[in-house]
Order: sequence, then C-alpha cells, then structure tokens
Amino acid sequence: MMPFHRTCKEVTALVIAREDRDLPWHDRLALRLHMSICATCPTFERQIISMRNAMQQWRNYEYTEPPAADPIHLPSRTNEPE
Ligand SMILES: [Zn+2]
Repeated sequence: MMPFHRTCKEVTALVIAREDRDLPWHDRLALRLHMSICATCPTFERQIISMRNAMQQWRNYEYTEPPAADPIHLPSRTNEPE
C-alpha cells in the first residue's frame, strides 16, 4: 500500500477542504502526486480555483459597492436553467 496514494474521491475532498483550511504537508504531497498521474482531477482543481477567483471578485464587488435598495433588480427566477 502506497502511503501517498489517494483515490479521485479523496483528492476531490482534499481540493475542496483546501479552500477552507491549510492542508498538512502529507496531504499536499499526496494531492500533487495524484494530480501528476490523474487525467480528471486537475480539471476539477482548475474549476474549483476559477470558481474561488470568481467568488472573490464578486465579494470584492459587494464590499466596494454595497447594493442600493433598487426594486428594478429584484431577482427573477423564471429564466433559470434546469
Ligand atoms: Zn483523480
């Protein structure tokens, strides 16, 4: 049994956990090793990172420009994709 072997499911959980807290070194190493041999997890990681960046931009936008009370921009739920 390889000590740094992780399944895709475990790596997915680690990538998400990394958004909230710093991972211990052995988890970071296992993550790196898995990313170098896996075809799908790096794609997932990129999605998480771009999502995080989008969220940060959105938060910064909210902080710099607090939403004014504007009845025109009430959210419409009718055109939401399934
Ligand atoms: Zn994987």
